[in-house]
Amino acid sequence: MYNQKRLFPLLLAVCLCGVFAFAGCKKKEDLTMKMNEPHNIRGVANFGRTFGDRNDRQLAVAQAIGIPPIASREAAEKLTDRLVLIDDNEHYSVDSLTHSIPYLIPGAAALLDTIGQNFLDSLACKGLNPNKIIVTSVLRTQGDVKRLRRRNTNASANSTHAYGTTFDISWKRFEKVEDPDGRPLQDVRADTLKLVLAEVLRDLKKADRCYVKYEIRQACFHITTRVQ
Ligand SMILES: [Zn+2]
Repeated sequence: MYNQKRLFPLLLAVCLCGVFAFAGCKKKEDLTMKMNEPHNIRGVANFGRTFGDRNDRQLAVAQAIGIPPIASREAAEKLTDRLVLIDDNEHYSVDSLTHSIPYLIPGAAALLDTIGQNFLDSLACKGLNPNKIIVTSVLRTQGDVKRLRRRNTNASANSTHAYGTTFDISWKRFEKVEDPDGRPLQDVRADTLKLVLAEVLRDLKKADRCYVKYEIRQACFHITTRVQ
């Protein structure tokens, strides 16, 4: 009969053998480049016509469901019961903001999350490697609007960005999502990503979730939530 002192090293040896055997069976990692296999990408016929919700239309809903315009960043930080902080997450990425601060009313924050998630889902359905949308502008304080107007005479004094209902998403830049297992992923062209994003936004617009304006000069979609 074995006593316990002799049994322990034996058990340890058996366990270690098991671990090594299991590790040996593990499938070899696939490090070949994952190519895109695009299909069913339709986009929209005309960006200007599909996304033509003008400022007065967006402003009416922004003023009805948004916050009153605020003077400063400090004022936004005090409105914690009405504003949600927007930060990089698994569905979208926030650009370094120069003329706005990352706060939205809850309905707009939820819309942004839905757009990012639907975009990733659509890419997967259409055989394209994952990319995140990039948010380029969010809530503008009165100070931001003044500074913007000094730089750009076209910047509207009555901007929907003052109400926490509105954000901009780039149609020119996207953030590639890297494979967690280190498999290289083929790039997706920005103009292809733009078509997929347009389909996502068209569907949400059709469902009365938002108004969307296609901005050529700023290379973004200017989006206002219709849900508080
Ligand atoms: Zn905008």
